[in-house]
Amino acid sequence: SRRHQGRIALVTGGSRGIGRAISRRLAAEGALVAVHYGHDHEAAGRTVEEIEADGGRAFAVHAELGVPQDAATLWAAFDQALAGTGSEPGLDILVNNAGITLPRPVAAVTEEEYDRVFAVNTRAPFFIVQRALERLRDGGRIISISSAATRTAYPAIVAYSMSKGALDTLTPALAKQLGPRGITVNTVAPGFTETEINPTLSNPEIRKALSSASVFDRLGAPADIADVVSFVASEEARWVTGQWIDATGGVGLG
Ligand code: NDP
Repeated sequence: SRRHQGRIALVTGGSRGIGRAISRRLAAEGALVAVHYGHDHEAAGRTVEEIEADGGRAFAVHAELGVPQDAATLWAAFDQALAGTGSEPGLDILVNNAGITLPRPVAAVTEEEYDRVFAVNTRAPFFIVQRALERLRDGGRIISISSAATRTAYPAIVAYSMSKGALDTLTPALAKQLGPRGITVNTVAPGFTETEINPTLSNPEIRKALSSASVFDRLGAPADIADVVSFVASEEARWVTGQWIDATGGVGLG
């Protein structure tokens, strides 16, 4: 289907992992996609090339997140690159996907690590959203990628879970504020998903343990998450707003 035809999307961390799958899916359905990245220029270029090879349209946007003025840097790069495509300014779909993990229990977290995980996972999307509001067209979409870890206890990643929990809290407030403009705001929460964020997934024992958290007894694939995001971004999902949408494969069902 071409349900995102004529729309402009920005996917933060769209170069790799879950963000790459989201970028590819939105582009395959017609959106012009800004593929944001922070460090890995080649990965962003590859994702743009994959989209173009599939007949879609995309461009890369560089901005390191978690540093002062990150949102301003990101939007300046976005505006410039979008103008370079010849498109009118504007935005229809914002996906706050970029994030980092912090695999430490409470006793092992340093103040620097705590600040870093909040700077990238919480502060950056907050100010990205703030500056998205003037660009988003009526009927637009804001989707933030959270985690199963905000609703199920994982002591091994507690500060990461807290950073995503604060992001969750942004969703209903924004949804209420933006309802009059026909903009929906939702959170999509993956469970354990096969990406480079978790290097221990190459260990068969750990894979087995994390797979068993899902009732389907497998890890999530990035495409599993991208399909949900594409739906939430679509016109068909217009009556769903302010929600935390589980895309975990049944983690936490007991
Ligand atoms: P990956 O590590 O595979 O990809 C992360 C993406 O975010 C990359 O595009 C990366 O680009 C970008 N990014 C990371 N840090 C920064 C930064 N400081 N500045 C700018 N860009 C940055 O992660 P996943 O795809 O696994 O995760 C995507 C989202 O899903 C995250 O928010 C994560 O917390 C969440 N999630 C993931 C789960 C999983 O099991 N994989 C489970 C639940 C939630 P670059 O390297 O170029 O900076």
